[in-house]
Amino acid sequence: MIWILYVMNDKTVATNFIRHIIDEDIKNNKNQGKVLTRFPPEPNGYLHIGHAKSICLNFGLANDYNGQCNLRFDDTNPEKESLEYVDSIKEDVHWLGFQWYGEVRYSSDYFQQLYDYAVQLIRMSKAYVCSLNAQQSREYRGTLTEPGKESPSRNHSIEENLSMFEKMKQGEYEDGEYVLRAKIDMASGNMNMRDPVIYRIRRHQHHQTGDEWCIYPMYDFTHCLSDAIEGITHSVCTLEFEDHRPLYDWYLDQLQTGCHPQQIEFARLNLNYTVTSKRKLKQLVEEGFVNGWDDPRMPTISGLRRRGYTPASIREFSERVGVTKVDGVVDMGTLEFCIRDDLEHHAPRAMAVLRPIKVVIENYPEDQVEELSAPRHPKNEEMGRRNFKMTREIYIDQNDYTDNPPPKYKRLTVGKEVRLRNSYVIKCEAVIKDDSGNPVELRCTYDKATLGTKPEGRKVQGVIHWVSAEYSFDAQVREYDRLFTVEQPDSNKQQGDFLDYLNPDSYTVHNHARVEPSLAEAKTGDNFQFEREGYYVADKDCTSEKLIFNRTVSLRDGWK
Ligand code: ATP
Ligand code: MG
Repeated sequence: MIWILYVMNDKTVATNFIRHIIDEDIKNNKNQGKVLTRFPPEPNGYLHIGHAKSICLNFGLANDYNGQCNLRFDDTNPEKESLEYVDSIKEDVHWLGFQWYGEVRYSSDYFQQLYDYAVQLIRMSKAYVCSLNAQQSREYRGTLTEPGKESPSRNHSIEENLSMFEKMKQGEYEDGEYVLRAKIDMASGNMNMRDPVIYRIRRHQHHQTGDEWCIYPMYDFTHCLSDAIEGITHSVCTLEFEDHRPLYDWYLDQLQTGCHPQQIEFARLNLNYTVTSKRKLKQLVEEGFVNGWDDPRMPTISGLRRRGYTPASIREFSERVGVTKVDGVVDMGTLEFCIRDDLEHHAPRAMAVLRPIKVVIENYPEDQVEELSAPRHPKNEEMGRRNFKMTREIYIDQNDYTDNPPPKYKRLTVGKEVRLRNSYVIKCEAVIKDDSGNPVELRCTYDKATLGTKPEGRKVQGVIHWVSAEYSFDAQVREYDRLFTVEQPDSNKQQGDFLDYLNPDSYTVHNHARVEPSLAEAKTGDNFQFEREGYYVADKDCTSEKLIFNRTVSLRDGWK
């Protein structure tokens, strides 16, 4: 695991305001100089590229400061959560190259402790059981410009509250009949401080605790206390929690937990031409606009993996976009740059003809088969060579032939020569067409003296890729484009619903591609450069009987 070896002094890592805070804390020996972070996903969906940034940040800080990072499932909404999501999240964190500290943790591990803390607040007269229903609670809450009103339940006795909270736990009330609330300040300018809910009654089976609990703690109460229980030093979260920080601190101050982690907020990652809201991604999956959470068009980690992104490219991306306090939108081109840069150095080369048209080389002897080879990587001999065969009948791509060449056309047309990559120069003598006038076969000749040498007395500029008709394999090649047609499909600047901006051409498939023999050994997740086409990866459904490749990214940024 290369990432673990990544040490600050060996590599220039961009510094940022969170590092400044930690540097200062270490200097002052705060937390005895220790750094313990956590990544706290709610298992209510698959992780996306924004989470990847948070993972790289939290695990990265821990690694760089010789600290640790916990993986904690923030699992207080059983009706939206599931084991499928828990498993996918663990897989994604591992795949990105990180190992959490010790066992996986769950907020639900602390349900009893959290309950005890709530009882403690009641005993301190800092919490009460409230009977307002949802509608009334909204009315009592006030607005940004008007203070709220105190609940009639607010001044019940400690004994009464203790007894009612116990009954909430025992299941003696209906769902939603009562809530436990903190007693803070209904006139606070910060809405989060207006007697926030601590516990609610919700009968729903929990993926970790089963039917043990029918009351569940709210996020704000759970999160700070879970951080404190684990001894987290720096609790890094996104900016929308800035207004929750006073509450985070209030619970810890009231309960004197002994450990008071510091909440630090940074700007969430937004990427253009996609959405990074779990709710919207879930909608895309559930309403069938994509083929599952790992559809290669999805900005999920599993989608990016299936698309052919490597862990290194995503870590590099996270590093490049940096950590700030200012919300912004990152260009998809940055992510694509990172994967191109990685695959340029590491992906073996191969020839694949996506839209085959047959070429018969008339002067090539019918029973002749020549063994040819080429390096797997032009700049890395250690990757070895690949073998393929030259025969009288070959396939080239339909796009490499035209009847009416524009000026400076370098590919095939009747009367012109091109070089077959890693093979001979051929000349197009004639074209055979079907009834509708579409080319179906090219008749060519080859110049025997041009294998590995330049032709005598003339220049041949074009080079095209090809495969032997007999010694090549069938493959399905899937091409993906952006999922949305506009930069910010879910911004409120955009009319209507984000679904209105789905790109109808985001998926195309070549069902009859032909690929060179080296690709027949491809295993799920193997990356390749298909010469002159782009970077591709063997799909998870790829087998030796049915080869399937997904386009990760084109060779160059050609997106208009
Ligand atoms: P929701 O709360 O709507 O379900 P979420 O995206 O906040 O979605 P969490 O599971 O709570 O999901 O997120 C886990 C961690 O990832 C949190 O610390 C959160 O701040 C961080 N995170 C989520 N989205 C982004 C993003 N786009 N950029 C950076 N960090 C993010
Ligand atoms: Mg969240």
